[in-house]
Amino acid sequence: MNQTEAQQQLETLRKQLHRYNYEYHTLDKPSVSDYEYDKKMRDLLDIEAEFPELITPDSPSQRVGAEPLSAFQKVRHNVPMLSLGNSFDEQELRDFDRRARQGTEEEVKYVCELKIDGLAVSLTYEDGVLVRGATRGDGTTGEDITVNLRTIRSIPLRLDSPETLEVRGEAFMPKKSFLSMNETREEKGEVPFANPRNAAAGSLRQLDPRIAAKRNLDIFLYGVGEWQGESSKSHSERLERMKELGLKTNPEWKKCETIDEVIEYVNSWVERRPDLDYEIDGIVIKVDRLDQQQALGFTAKSPRWATAYKFPAEEAVTKLKDIELSVGRTGVVTPTAILEPVQVAGTTVQRASLHNEDLIREKDIRIGDTVIIKKAGDIIPEVVRVLDDKRSGEEEPFSMPEYCPECESKLVRLEEEVALRCINPNCKAQLREGLIHFVSRNAMDIEGLGEKVIAQLFQEELIHNISDLYKLNREELLQLDRMGEKSVDNLLKAIEASKENSLEKLLFGLGIRYVGTKAASTLAQEFGTIDSLMEADVERLVQVPEIGEKMADSIARYFDKPQVTELIEALKQSGINMEYKGTKLNEGPEDSPFKGKTVVLTGKMENFTRSEAKNIVQELGGKVTGSVSKNTDLLIAGEDAGSKYSKAEQLGVEIWNEEEFANALDN
Ligand code: NAD
Repeated sequence: MNQTEAQQQLETLRKQLHRYNYEYHTLDKPSVSDYEYDKKMRDLLDIEAEFPELITPDSPSQRVGAEPLSAFQKVRHNVPMLSLGNSFDEQELRDFDRRARQGTEEEVKYVCELKIDGLAVSLTYEDGVLVRGATRGDGTTGEDITVNLRTIRSIPLRLDSPETLEVRGEAFMPKKSFLSMNETREEKGEVPFANPRNAAAGSLRQLDPRIAAKRNLDIFLYGVGEWQGESSKSHSERLERMKELGLKTNPEWKKCETIDEVIEYVNSWVERRPDLDYEIDGIVIKVDRLDQQQALGFTAKSPRWATAYKFPAEEAVTKLKDIELSVGRTGVVTPTAILEPVQVAGTTVQRASLHNEDLIREKDIRIGDTVIIKKAGDIIPEVVRVLDDKRSGEEEPFSMPEYCPECESKLVRLEEEVALRCINPNCKAQLREGLIHFVSRNAMDIEGLGEKVIAQLFQEELIHNISDLYKLNREELLQLDRMGEKSVDNLLKAIEASKENSLEKLLFGLGIRYVGTKAASTLAQEFGTIDSLMEADVERLVQVPEIGEKMADSIARYFDKPQVTELIEALKQSGINMEYKGTKLNEGPEDSPFKGKTVVLTGKMENFTRSEAKNIVQELGGKVTGSVSKNTDLLIAGEDAGSKYSKAEQLGVEIWNEEEFANALDN
């Protein structure tokens, strides 16, 4: 390659990498896989190494991340938050070790840590109190996301000692939360997140902290920016000390005496990685002694005393044989790729959700294509991209049908949704999926009624809706494939037993939009019977803790439908319990100042977090709701109280400040 060619290639690569960085770091919406990104970055680095005179200060090789979003306040990092150099194999780890020993002219010991795949954040504590949380941004300037980070329960708002320091770590979404969140998103017709990393980043970069609060995020802290009066001599001491302060560190780190030990650690995690309940994308190897770290220093982009070993991407190439459509219980029509079976990350994959039409178009996926697939979050198979050069010309473009594949009614695209929905309330597919949900473990928990049996029941027209389930008889069930006497008896017993379930199981089972298990429990506790729940209007519903407007609206609308009233009536006729059987809401002690009162909390208190205050009020028999209305008995207002305060004043609601609240507790 001559200089002109190099220059041309560099320009192309830089342009592409800039775009990928922006999509990944700023928009949380990568369009290529990390593997592909890493490969392009490698190409760039190789050419720049050969032609160092062509390196420009704005080259992606010289920069970290991407600019922060303007929606947030900017935060300047006193000590830059850098990226890490990569190692892709054993040899590169040995090269790293050699450079470290040459650079320090000493023996070097290492600390190995899991490389958590989330979002790098910085937390600043002043005299032990959390004052700021920020993203890494472009390394020098990040975004102030304090309000969102405060919703992560494992981040202490106060340390066990009044230290002043800035610590760094990775905020992430556990795999389980990721899976269930994506399921809900798809049901709601929202675009699912590509992987837990994007989900975490997307959640923390929302302007409304209530969103982050719902996302079950967690954090591991792994480093220090600045620490006033720090005494640690090594990174391992730092990790110990951070843990003592109450900062959550990852327990799997290990001190390694030699690079061989490092390699052993790396290899052991290649195998154990799927067992973790969070995503890791590699291992970080750091020189342990801080004086040696200092001696080694930094490049423009990363420290010389650390490297990230990146696990090879678990991707596979296969053929996309067909695209199948399925209708979910809320009517969302989802296309699924049917694949030539292939091994990825330990299991055989033959199907992958394509989510919606936009995604199929964006990736230009056609039937007959050769595709690369991987598992997002190590779990969900996903089509990464099409291999264009493997096309024969026979591949068929796909478009979504206009009519429901099950009931043939016209599909609609609801406002702001990417998903197509069938809105026919009598669509067989929806009823069938609805019944699958109704009998599931967290709902009515009817064992022995798997998807295949349910499909048969509908096919044989033994069932048309949920309430028919309770009218099934022995003879009918015995007709079904693979249903012997014993399984029929067991099934009938299970159906019978489900009649006694407490109300929340029924409520969840009905599949009301946005009502998950937690909301179902709250509603059952609050209203006690289905009748009083059905009578409640939106205004009454939003008074219930944790029931927001959207959910309240959805509940009220659900019970307004004549076919729902009919269904509930039929279920009652069959003898299904419609009452809450669990423990009643805490009534609190007789002399409690909050007993039977509806309380709203607002503003910042000095000595209580919002959730502490809420728990106290609830323990003492009060009901805590989110907004002030004429039903509110008391507003407890901390500093900087806003609109709730003025509304309470307007309505003549009693208002306490923090001191009055504390006094009431003392009494
Ligand atoms: P990186 O992910 O390679 O490594 C640095 C980061 O690792 C740190 O900032 C920190 O957030 C994280 N980390 C996790 N655990 C850690 C630990 N125990 N100790 C220290 N750090 C730890 O570098 P990067 O600059 O954050 O991102 C670059 C990478 O992101 C690329 O290699 C690529 O895989 C991916 N990326 C992908 C795209 C795309 O379009 N797909 C675009 C840009 C970047």
